[in-house]
Amino acid sequence: MAKYEFACKDIGMQCGFSAEAKTQDELMQKIAQHAKEAHNMTEIPPETLQKVKGAIKKKGWF
Ligand SMILES: [Zn+2]
Repeated sequence: MAKYEFACKDIGMQCGFSAEAKTQDELMQKIAQHAKEAHNMTEIPPETLQKVKGAIKKKGWF
């Protein structure tokens, strides 16, 4: 079982949000939802998206 993790603080946000999911897609959806609700980002700018993807950690077996 692998798991993907992301925390807002990993991209320098002053925010305690973190999320995990079994797939990167699922995690991206959670992040998009959070970005919309907490950071007023109806769409995540490409630059931020790149940072987010770079900050996602994979854990588990592969
Ligand atoms: Zn956040």
